Amino acid sequence: MKRKISIIGSTGSIGRQALEVIERLGDKFEIIALAGGHNAELLNKQAEKFNPHYTCLGEEGLERICSDKENDIILVACSGKVGLKPTLTAIKNGIDIALANKETLVMAGDIVMREAKKYGVNIIPVDSEHCAIHQCIKDISQVDKLIITASGGPFLHKSVDDMKNATVEQALAHPRWNMGKKITVDSATLMNKGLEIIEAHHLFGFDYDDIDVVVHPQSIVHSAIEYKDGSVIAQLGLPSMHIPIQYAITYPERFEGIKSKSFSFSEIARLDFEKPDYEKFPTVKLAYETGKLGGTATVCLNAANEESVLAFLEGKIKLYDIYEITKKMCSEHKVIKNPTIDEIFETDKEIREKTKEIIRNIE
Ligand code: MG
Repeated sequence: MKRKISIIGSTGSIGRQALEVIERLGDKFEIIALAGGHNAELLNKQAEKFNPHYTCLGEEGLERICSDKENDIILVACSGKVGLKPTLTAIKNGIDIALANKETLVMAGDIVMREAKKYGVNIIPVDSEHCAIHQCIKDISQVDKLIITASGGPFLHKSVDDMKNATVEQALAHPRWNMGKKITVDSATLMNKGLEIIEAHHLFGFDYDDIDVVVHPQSIVHSAIEYKDGSVIAQLGLPSMHIPIQYAITYPERFEGIKSKSFSFSEIARLDFEKPDYEKFPTVKLAYETGKLGGTATVCLNAANEESVLAFLEGKIKLYDIYEITKKMCSEHKVIKNPTIDEIFETDKEIREKTKEIIRNIE
């Protein structure tokens, strides 16, 4: 039987790679719907090639796709807050989620995980670190600690001054991963790791103090877990998003699919690990702090960071301003402890407006 899938964000980086995976898997999937953001031309090409039952462009139509019970699984691969409401709709309709959208958990992790439990829905992470942890965990009650790896991005061994004077091109030159612009800047500031800590907290139900970060420049060990008895299980693989995407959409089965060659320890030769430098990358600390506050604190973190990243990409602010602005917004934000979805969206909107105002004053 073919597995029926829809892709939210099929024209984005993860969406395009997911279609490559599906193509390689041959007749394993039937595509119910493809939803793209703005790129109508690409969406049309994808529709011609993959024959979905229907397509949609923009936010309209996402609710329809996510209430379509034909779907066995929906890959939520759009970026930004547009992923949140459709994900909740899919969960309420009992449809499993392959989750590549960070904001869904960073903004509303408590609500999303509670609903998933209530409706018996699997949330399978696509993010390589969480996908790794998902693969390592056999009995979660015996796990003491999650260890998330970070490549360290393009500024790992550069000075703070280099970082302060970084150009957009330098920030976008990620040494290991080929990703969208926003997430690549987040990887340069290490905010991406901060958001991943928050994701991991929600996905696996671990306290922030039991989630560690280790820098691992080769990006071969995608993350690890430590059991009570000191045993550490890690997941390794070449740094390609095809692998976690395939894992998430075919779970619990595995197929050859996208595999191109066998993993070779001797070819990789060495794996390095080091402590993250939280003085140089203070975003990670900020993420721990806001994560521990919970409620709308992480909504604020996410919104202020995203607006600042966009301003950086437009040349309006410097790379380090992203942190400074985000920190300021977080310290001024009055946290709502158990927010409703509406309160989450209101906070998001309010923080974005305030952040833009700060940016206007810098320009
Ligand atoms: Mg990741």
